[in-house]
Amino acid sequence: MLHPVICIDGPAASGKSTVARLVAHDLHYVYVDTGAMYRAFTFLTLEAGHDPSSRSRMKQLLEKVDFHAEIAGQEIALRQGKRDLGPHTRLPEVNAAVSPVSALPELREYLVNLQRKLRLSAPLVMEGRDIGTVVCSDSPFKYFIDACPTVRAERRKKQGEKDNLAARDKLDSSRSAAPLLRAADAQLLDSGKNDARSLADQIVRDVRTRSTPAPTVP
Ligand code: C5P
Repeated sequence: MLHPVICIDGPAASGKSTVARLVAHDLHYVYVDTGAMYRAFTFLTLEAGHDPSSRSRMKQLLEKVDFHAEIAGQEIALRQGKRDLGPHTRLPEVNAAVSPVSALPELREYLVNLQRKLRLSAPLVMEGRDIGTVVCSDSPFKYFIDACPTVRAERRKKQGEKDNLAARDKLDSSRSAAPLLRAADAQLLDSGKNDARSLADQIVRDVRTRSTPAPTVP
């Protein structure tokens, strides 16, 4: 059986992770950060000394990698063998190389399959760039969170991370494989004008309203 999935997409530093975590917590769904999966493979690519944009190197890595995405409580743990990849995903060198690595069709196919399989295990709140358009395009619950570039840059600065948002956004939106795009049926939410709590409340209300079965007429 396929469990429901709430799709949350948006550009870098749009605040979608905070909103997605709150929604998952409120609904007791599992939170899935697909960006962390692309980041984990970027780390493995860099660690192996591969060129981040080499398709043949990525194919080799995917053939032999012992990669797992396991549900751990209300989140997903990413492992290579027994090694937890989580602590390696936010390094500055990963921020700088993640967009070219994510553009490789072989990696996208591998991760999209893996992300779709998670729906067999639990209801999910999945965030990323292509969740509503590609990964779970059949879901009725799609939200696109955005804010102006100044607000997003300020948010990243406060998080203390070195991250060239404009370069990532440009690559993510212009790549040929599953570019960052708002699904036609996704609700647009502005995280510059609303805080994360109020956006999460809005999503939870919407999901609950639309999930309630229509009352039966006696
Ligand atoms: O969400 P986050 O900023 O951590 O994502 C890191 C990068 O991973 C993005 O800039 C994008 O290149 C890639 N990504 C993607 N598709 C997703 C999630 C992330 O291409 N579903």
